[in-house]
Amino acid sequence: MLIEELISAGRQLYERGLQTTRSGNISAREGNVFWITRSGTNLGRLVESQFVEVEVDDRAMIPSAASVETRVHRGIYNASCAHAIVHAHPPHAIATAEVAGEKGIKPIHNEAIVGLKWVPVIDTSVAGEDIGEAIDPIAAQLSRWPAVVIRGHGAFSIGGDIDEAVYRMVLLEEVCKIDCILKSFK
Ligand SMILES: [Zn+2]
Repeated sequence: MLIEELISAGRQLYERGLQTTRSGNISAREGNVFWITRSGTNLGRLVESQFVEVEVDDRAMIPSAASVETRVHRGIYNASCAHAIVHAHPPHAIATAEVAGEKGIKPIHNEAIVGLKWVPVIDTSVAGEDIGEAIDPIAAQLSRWPAVVIRGHGAFSIGGDIDEAVYRMVLLEEVCKIDCILKSFK
């Protein structure tokens, strides 16, 4: 069931243009373990064998096939009340973060003011590289906020389940699309 929900979530993220065919990763927690996509998978075409089981306990080994951001997912589970996590590369959010910097991203429409409140922006720790981000800065923001954007990379969102994490990522991209539209009027 959990895996089916993750497969459906991956497809939605891909169809909405929040991923390329090789980017992003998603996971959901069940007790002391979480299920995460394998490294380099296409989120639009996930199958059951592309998920890896990982222990939430950060002393446990991480299987080598697991996503490059698995340590970040585990850090978030240990620092927050998340039961599911989405990491995506939403284009308007990446663009908006470049301009917003430390001010973060403030939604202007009601749905997102309620759903996101405010979205912090932090710098990537791995500029130009395809290795995992530093855990602590991301986990610290997600212990307070539902989503965070990493400049020059992408975004993470959390939820009580994978539907909520996907919703927040979609909402974040919508907020940033509106921001880009507004800037085009100036
Ligand atoms: Zn990424």
